Amino acid sequence: MSDRYVKVEIRVEEMKSLGEDAEKKEEGVDAEQQVPVCSPLASASPDPSSVTVAGRDASNASIACRHRVKNRSKLGKDAKNSCGKHTSDVSLHGSVVSAHVGGKNLNRLLGHERTLHVKGTGKVLQGKLETNGNYANIQPSKNNQETRREDGFKVAKKRRPVTVDISKAKTSLEALKLSVKQLKWKEFPLGRRAPCDIYWHGVSFHDNENIVSGQVNKFPGMMEMLRKINLSRAVRTMQELFPEEYDFYPRSWILPEECQQFSTQIRMVKESDATLNPTFIVKPDGGSQGDGIYLIRDPSDLKLMVGSQAKQAVVQEYIQKPLLIDKLKFDIRLYVLLKSLEPLEIYIAKEGLTRFCTEPYQEPSQKNLSHVFMHLTNYSLNVHSGNFVHSDSQSTGSKRTLSSVLYRLAAKGVDIKKVWSDIIALVIKTAIAVVPELRVYYQSDIPPGKPGPTCFQILGFDILLMKNLKPVLLEVNSNPSMRIEHEQEVTPGVFEYVPSPVDEEVKVGVIRDTLRLMDPGRKKPSISQLRPGGLDHGEEIPMEAEPQERSPDEGALPSLCLKQVYPKYTKQFNYLRLVERIAVLFIRFLGVKGNMRLGPTAFRTFIRTCKLSNSNFSMASVDILYIDITRRWAGTMPDSREAGMGLQAFVEAFFHLAGRRFKSLPLREQVASQLELCEAQLESQTAVEERRSVSCSRAMPRAAKAQTLGHANPLLNSPAPLRRASSQDYRLHQRLKPRTLRANVEN
Ligand code: ADP
Repeated sequence: MSDRYVKVEIRVEEMKSLGEDAEKKEEGVDAEQQVPVCSPLASASPDPSSVTVAGRDASNASIACRHRVKNRSKLGKDAKNSCGKHTSDVSLHGSVVSAHVGGKNLNRLLGHERTLHVKGTGKVLQGKLETNGNYANIQPSKNNQETRREDGFKVAKKRRPVTVDISKAKTSLEALKLSVKQLKWKEFPLGRRAPCDIYWHGVSFHDNENIVSGQVNKFPGMMEMLRKINLSRAVRTMQELFPEEYDFYPRSWILPEECQQFSTQIRMVKESDATLNPTFIVKPDGGSQGDGIYLIRDPSDLKLMVGSQAKQAVVQEYIQKPLLIDKLKFDIRLYVLLKSLEPLEIYIAKEGLTRFCTEPYQEPSQKNLSHVFMHLTNYSLNVHSGNFVHSDSQSTGSKRTLSSVLYRLAAKGVDIKKVWSDIIALVIKTAIAVVPELRVYYQSDIPPGKPGPTCFQILGFDILLMKNLKPVLLEVNSNPSMRIEHEQEVTPGVFEYVPSPVDEEVKVGVIRDTLRLMDPGRKKPSISQLRPGGLDHGEEIPMEAEPQERSPDEGALPSLCLKQVYPKYTKQFNYLRLVERIAVLFIRFLGVKGNMRLGPTAFRTFIRTCKLSNSNFSMASVDILYIDITRRWAGTMPDSREAGMGLQAFVEAFFHLAGRRFKSLPLREQVASQLELCEAQLESQTAVEERRSVSCSRAMPRAAKAQTLGHANPLLNSPAPLRRASSQDYRLHQRLKPRTLRANVEN
């Protein structure tokens, strides 16, 4: 029967895209009075057996019908006037016409022969009305079968448009709207009561609270993780393990805690070679757009205080010899999509921006240290220089496309394929450095088993090319500007936003193609497409188009401007993911949902479970190690309210333990060996737990089994000692007061 009839499913959606007014009305409407226009009543048809559906095209699976009425007396008027405000989706697939109409008004129509007019299309569907849960089905009469069958086939292929909540998009709004329009998806400018497929946040994961499904364009913790101090710490940990691989990040010191170290090291460098005269750039921790940045040549020039408070900042080696074009310093803004943390999936936009200084570059000297238009490439600063060139061309002006700059370099004989593959490597390595902590944030906000959205995020990598063409990472922006207008001085001192073709070209492409990749209906790439390959200097360069898999609706769209680089290049980079493996251990022992810190008992449990203590390293020493490291890290994070050991402190403890056990090896091998040891122990422990729980479940009554084995609750699935540990942590933490213990770790 299914191929003989057409099924029309009318789903009445609550649209909040109606303006404040409509939203208020909605609040005041009694559920039973809410009559969607697509129901027989709302159509205000004098004949209750006739159902009218407004629609643009009967061959379209979604026929939008926007309407809401407050009560029956207003029916006739409102039914007309508010069309366009509320939506009813009508989909034609299968064998019956079904309408989600809700309420008791439907009852009087049941069992009779009905007609469904698809408004604006001339289509008429006839049949008997029957109910099925929230849906009213019209079983078509036989004499309409042929038409319906024809329509049904056409329509079944179309799927409903992807819904995007754009209410919190802030400055990305314009670019986002253009992208959604190009994709023919559906935007909700004021949010929506029903869940959306995608939520676009302008600032952080928490812009909308209580999202339990769909996808959010921000990861929890990304903003915190990419602040200058945290990024420097994460990269530094990787530099300890892999100094050569991570030499793309300038040497950095964290202020105020490493102020002394910075002064001492610089003094020693200068004493060892009097001709060396390094310059440093000081960047406030939470700063952006060049705010508060200054250059120094001597540690005594550091401005350490803001009022009575010590300034949190990073002081970094200044790259004195950048690559210049037209005698100007420039940097690259590259857009990177972190599509998923687990499994790790990274895409790079093939097109990016380059931002130029507006004063010819000279190596830093005492005289020019304060020339921001010479040393800082920030658009937000340079746009205020009289020399800033707004250009509609992508290859001239103070903001250009990355491809135009690469063409220019290629024309000068530069091996741009090598430059591009070095940039890809820099991006993957940086992502590998920040992912461990992100995973801790993620499980805290979206614990496994709890309903929640999945996340993705567009990041802005700021990269400087040195004169020798080596790319250097300056910073990663969790919230890169997606504005497609730029500020222009219309009359002296008066600025106005005007459209910027260069920004639009790049940013709309990035947002649109991010959405395409996140499309819930998109086919997952096949295994062969995900198969790791090798990154070599023959890597495609940004301006080369690639054939891409498209979904059927994407026919008219250009090929994707985002290129997958991970897992594509897993082979080359997977060995770097040691800290992430430590983070997995850390998360396993966190125990309590939502936690980001390990308590002392959980730390002990970790040591015991992984068999890391022995006659030379007693449990008392374990406690001392815990206290010593946790206390030191607590001092470096004055704003942290949660007690216990964070991931970075745990990593330090892990390195320390690895060093004790595998003394003769280099650090990275110490850590890798210890990880293997821990993972093997945990694996065997998990096997024992599983055996125990199977034998236990055999002996248990059915109802108890259902509760105990609930996979939805990972805590219940975690080993028993872990569960006990989480409740004991606080008590032990209280007992082990730092001052009662020796400060030094026992060796
Ligand atoms: P912000 O977030 O305030 O923009 P950045 O780290 O991006 O801070 O630095 C601002 C600008 O300073 C960069 O765009 C770049 O031009 C310059 N800059 C930053 N770090 C360095 C460095 N280590 N060497 C040379 N120039 C730098």
